[in-house]
Amino acid sequence: MTPLESEFDLIFKNKGGRYINRNSDIQDLAWSLASSRILIAWIRRTEAHLPEPYIDIIDNIEPNAFATKSGSKYFIGITYGAIVIFQDIFYRMYSSKIFLADVGEQVKEVDADEKFFLRLTHMAQFALPDDPPTKSSPINDIRFFLSFQIMKMAFEFLVWHEFAHIIYGHLGFVHSVLGSFEIREMKREKETRKWIDPLISQTLEVKADSYAAIRGMDILEILISNPGMLSPGLRPYFNDWSVALKMWVFATYTFFRLFSNQNIATGMKKASHPPPSVRSHLVLAVAISALDGRNNVPPSRILSKLCVTAAAEIEMVFGEISQNVPDFTHLIFSTQDEISEHALFLGKHWNNVMPLLQPFTFSPLPE
Ligand SMILES: [Zn+2]
Repeated sequence: MTPLESEFDLIFKNKGGRYINRNSDIQDLAWSLASSRILIAWIRRTEAHLPEPYIDIIDNIEPNAFATKSGSKYFIGITYGAIVIFQDIFYRMYSSKIFLADVGEQVKEVDADEKFFLRLTHMAQFALPDDPPTKSSPINDIRFFLSFQIMKMAFEFLVWHEFAHIIYGHLGFVHSVLGSFEIREMKREKETRKWIDPLISQTLEVKADSYAAIRGMDILEILISNPGMLSPGLRPYFNDWSVALKMWVFATYTFFRLFSNQNIATGMKKASHPPPSVRSHLVLAVAISALDGRNNVPPSRILSKLCVTAAAEIEMVFGEISQNVPDFTHLIFSTQDEISEHALFLGKHWNNVMPLLQPFTFSPLPE
């Protein structure tokens, strides 16, 4: 291992250490890793003063992501489980005959795994299927590459989110309060560790999501303006804002939907992260406002409708495939008075949290 790899291995030793490729999934993991490093390199081309975190994979099947700091170096660790689950979910969605019925040829696709989608409705019960994910990858070429592209966008969202924790001084601040510590993404049952004020933590999470959403729109703009970056079969799905945003909603909504079992009002203010439904909602709102003033963007009310329709389409597919009635709980949870008031509070709380980050940030803090 290189010195950085060894340091990464040591830092995440208690979580499984650095993942060393040993299975047939080697190519997917290598791709995921390379893709995330390219994102950071791309942003540092224009903002060279930003720290360059070392990104690698943790050998742990539990889906999670971590950002941490050691000395002056920053590390982002994505678990092997998170990568496998992303891959599995998107491949299976696109293997379904029901999902995106107008993309590719439907007749060749296999029936979706009903048991899988039953599990998908509750992350805590989620278990990796025994059969390798590649067995369920879409047969139609366009659907195969589109599923890959959507998975990539979900993965990028996660990396941007972790990067935001670093460049906006979130980690520096948490470190100054708690000493050596990491930001852990997916809440675990019976969390007992010492943590910062949950409402501060939730405010930081909202801001990291916002950064990821804005960067997501930047990437979409690049794809829309440079069709040659995509293979010809994929271009129709990224050739204007309406279709491209829909693909991005499929990626990010599905991402948060995985944790929808955490949409519980009781104890909401004591959790380290806002309810996933609130995060889905805010991320879409930020994405739409980030498009303001860009070229050829439809009116925001049309985009809002498009986002909700895309999210509902995902729920319809999950419902139909799992042979349950569609479950719109995740979609509407954040619209309840108590929950939307909490979301508004987090927005206002930023004014209190921002000064705490000033000594640690690498980048001007957003308003
Ligand atoms: Zn986070």
